[in-house]
Amino acid sequence: MAAREILRTTLCIVGSGPAAHTAAIYAARAELYPILFEGWLANGIAAGGQLTTTTDVENFPGFPTGILGGELTEKFKEQSVRFGTKVFPETVTNVDFSARPFKLYTDSKEVLAETVIIATGAVAKRLTFKGSGEEEDGYWNKGISACAVCDGAAPIFRKKPLAVIGGGDSAMEEANFLTKYGSKVYLIHRRNEFRASKIMQSRTLSNPKIEVLWDSSVIEAIGNERGLLSGLKVCILHSSPFPPASSLFPAAPSLQTCDPKP
Ligand SMILES: Cc1cc2nc3c(=O)[nH]c(=O)nc-3n(C[C@H](O)[C@H](O)[C@H](O)COP(=O)(O)OP(=O)(O)OC[C@H]3O[C@@H](n4cnc5c(N)ncnc54)[C@H](O)[C@@H]3O)c2cc1C
Repeated sequence: MAAREILRTTLCIVGSGPAAHTAAIYAARAELYPILFEGWLANGIAAGGQLTTTTDVENFPGFPTGILGGELTEKFKEQSVRFGTKVFPETVTNVDFSARPFKLYTDSKEVLAETVIIATGAVAKRLTFKGSGEEEDGYWNKGISACAVCDGAAPIFRKKPLAVIGGGDSAMEEANFLTKYGSKVYLIHRRNEFRASKIMQSRTLSNPKIEVLWDSSVIEAIGNERGLLSGLKVCILHSSPFPPASSLFPAAPSLQTCDPKP
């Protein structure tokens, strides 16, 4: 294996979402000459972070008509680079913070840094229920996905009943997004109220293609003879005024999503 290139810096930033680039812009303007590792599909997320997985970002100041997530993250990077941040499309795979200078490693580089900012964000948390996994009898990627924006337009989801699990902003956003493609979207939530922002709640509740299943939890994914998801077994939880029950729920194929803050 070729020797790693050694870089020395005052500040090394790991990550490439809004947090990393905000840090980079401030540091670069303070003439700290930061280097930033934006990751190469680190944690399965493209450089730019979670906003690359969404369509319209409507709450960012300066964009009164909204801006596409991918476009916004490109602007973050452009602004960091403009002030002198060096951006590398590599993932930091190992660190040694036991002594100064701190050491960070990528496949091709070793960085000696006086300071480090870690802004590696978050990843979708996958739910586990029978049939939700990647094993032979599971339906992960065979009808179950964690990203409606990435997968929702695929032919297997078009004009079919779909399901989204969750009650936060991500769930609302994904359910609304999927109404463009599915015949109907079931929003399955384990509580009797949402934690999403009010505006996302009202957008969801007023969407005629979305039906909310309150106090409900998915307990099993059911497949068809082609090995694709064909339905979900949903359990009504004890907090509901109804007695505990489970039923086969026709949502074929369905999507799984998750709350960033469960
Ligand atoms: C579908 C969806 C829609 C959203 N819509 C909105 C919205 O409209 N408005 C809003 O304000 N917020 C929205 N959010 C939330 C917003 O995306 C997050 O709050 C924000 O992206 C968090 O930023 P961050 O910089 O902390 O991390 P992230 O955006 O998670 O970025 C972290 C980055 O670090 C990289 N990374 C991880 N590990 C390493 C490593 N070892 N080396 C190098 N790089 C690494 C990752 O690949 C990733 O690119 C949405 C989130 C989702 C999932």
